[in-house]
Amino acid sequence: MTTLVAGADLGGTTVSIALATCDGTIVAEAKIPTDSHEGPEAVLSRISDQVLALAKEAGSSPAAFGLGVPGLVDLKAGTTKFLPNMPTQWRDVEVAKLVSAKLDCPVRLLNDARAATLGELRYGLGKGINSMAMLTLGTGVGGGIAVDGKLVLGPLGAAGELGHQRIMPDGPICGCGQRGCLETLVSGPAFTGEAVRLLKAGLAPGLHKLVGGDIGKVSPREMAQAAREGDEVLAQSIKRRAGYLGIGVANVVTILHPDLVVLTGGVAEMGDILIDPVRTAARENVGMFPTENVQVEKSILGEKAGLLGTIALAAESLSNQ
Ligand SMILES: [Zn+2]
Repeated sequence: MTTLVAGADLGGTTVSIALATCDGTIVAEAKIPTDSHEGPEAVLSRISDQVLALAKEAGSSPAAFGLGVPGLVDLKAGTTKFLPNMPTQWRDVEVAKLVSAKLDCPVRLLNDARAATLGELRYGLGKGINSMAMLTLGTGVGGGIAVDGKLVLGPLGAAGELGHQRIMPDGPICGCGQRGCLETLVSGPAFTGEAVRLLKAGLAPGLHKLVGGDIGKVSPREMAQAAREGDEVLAQSIKRRAGYLGIGVANVVTILHPDLVVLTGGVAEMGDILIDPVRTAARENVGMFPTENVQVEKSILGEKAGLLGTIALAAESLSNQ
């Protein structure tokens, strides 16, 4: 019988859970609300119950489980160290111990952006690629890097925090305590915040019409559509922020010279109106060597990258035992 592994991507509002083969084919999946106010033990217990329900459905128990979490983890101990957006911040929660007691299999943890990078590396655009970097452009900006076909994690599992490179020393204050990190300039809220301001100032009439004047409906996707359909000031705003992102990508290219840089998350859904100027800025800001061979692409796994990364994490834990 085919060995199955399980994975879960823990988000602030939703947990995506799947049972899959080691080559990343999902055989059963579910989404449950995080309900983080219930506390870590209750959240982990519900995730475990859902994995067991999927296993029952598939008629086979998982041989390993991978969990992606939004924050810092202790990879060896299998504990969470700091999940900034969760109540209690999940400090020193013995996740691996608690979950493996219920699932009766090994449990591995990973930061969610590193998990998404691993997913894209194993099952997406990174297949057969030697080195790549990934930027997850959502509410925050996460990242990950892989060299020689392997994820680079560093002693804290925190290597590849590409969203927290400083682009603008006097820029907006960031959740990490620094100023002017890439995240403050190109996260979803950074893009939509400026779009809302333009809308209120009467400078984005197309966007205003598109969302019916409801600023709560402004997302990168609507922004891109309005810009494509003629909102010129909005188009310039997207291009300027794409330039910051391009500098961030150029820094990564200068340091790593990867074969591939992948962009994912809600902001990447803007498509070519974002990615074309990112490519241009990335090339213009690397001076030391030619970069024509460095591809900058949108993820083909999209929002599934994180979940598939946890499947890859579980699968690799079996081969690395
Ligand atoms: Zn930061």
